Amino acid sequence: MKAGKLVQLDEDVYYLANGINLGIIRTSATECAIVDTGLGDDAGKRLVAAAESLTLRISSIINTHSHADHFGGNHYLIKKMGAVVYAPVFESAVMANPFIEPFFLFGAHPIPELTERFLMGKRSRADVVISDGYLEMGERRLTVVPLPGHSPNQIGVVAEAVCFTGDALFSEEAWKKHIIIYVANVGKALDSLERLRTVGAREFVPSHAEPTSEIAKLIDYNVARMQGIVDSILHILGEPATAEEVLKAMADRHALAMTTPQQYYLTLSAVKAYLSYLAEKELARYYLDENRLFWEATE
Ligand SMILES: [Zn+2]
Repeated sequence: MKAGKLVQLDEDVYYLANGINLGIIRTSATECAIVDTGLGDDAGKRLVAAAESLTLRISSIINTHSHADHFGGNHYLIKKMGAVVYAPVFESAVMANPFIEPFFLFGAHPIPELTERFLMGKRSRADVVISDGYLEMGERRLTVVPLPGHSPNQIGVVAEAVCFTGDALFSEEAWKKHIIIYVANVGKALDSLERLRTVGAREFVPSHAEPTSEIAKLIDYNVARMQGIVDSILHILGEPATAEEVLKAMADRHALAMTTPQQYYLTLSAVKAYLSYLAEKELARYYLDENRLFWEATE
C-alpha cells in the first residue's frame, strides 16, 4: 500500500492510501466528507492536500470506529477546517475520552505502553451521532451499515457504488502477520461479515486491505481465519486452561512471537473475545479452582 496515493473509485468517491485507506466523498461542488482520518496530524495534513488537489474543502468527517488509527487525524481537521464529526454512539464516547481504550485493554489504570498514540488518539468531539440508515450530507445521500464486532459499534459507509468497511475484515497479509487479529465481539463480527455480503456495492474498501470488487472471497477468507481460531482454541481447551495459558498455547501453536506489551494485551483481549463467544455458544465453560479461572471445552 503506497502512502499518499489518491485513487478515484466512482464519480465522486476516492480513497487515499495513507498507511490505512481513508475515504474522500464529494458532498457538493466545493466540499467533501472524509471516512476515517488516520493516525495523527500528518494524516490530517495529507487529507487536506488530497482534497485540495480535487478543489474540495473538507467539511465533515465520518468515523467508522474509535481506534486511534481511524480518528487520530480528527483533531487537526477540526482545528484547521472546522470539520463536523459524525460517529456512532459508543465510538463517540471513546473518541471524546480516548483514555477508555488503554483503560479497557488493561482493565485498570494502564501501564504507560498502552497510552502511546497507536492505542490512544488525541481527543475528538463527535457533533452528530449516527446509526444505521441514510445519512444526508450536502447534496449526497450516504448509507450507514452497522458492522459491529471488531469494535462494539463499528459502522461501514456506502457512497455511490463504493462501500468503506472500516475494520470489518482484513487482508490475507494482515492475518498471516498478526494471526489473532483484535476483535471485541466474535459473534457480532461474524454476523457483520455476513451482512457485508448483502451490501449492494461494486467496490469495497477495507481500511487495511487493497480495495476489491470481489468481497465474497475476502469475506470467506476472514470467516475461515476466525473459524480456524475457534477450532484451535477448542482443541487447546481439551485440557482446562486460563485465558493467559490459552494465549500462550495459541501463540506457540501458530508461531506467533509477541514482542511488545501492546501486542500482548491486544491479542489477550482478542483471545478473551473468543472465549466469551465459546461460552455463549455453550462450546466452553469456565470455573474457578484454587483462585484461578479455568476454561474448558464442554465436550
Ligand atoms: Zn480498528
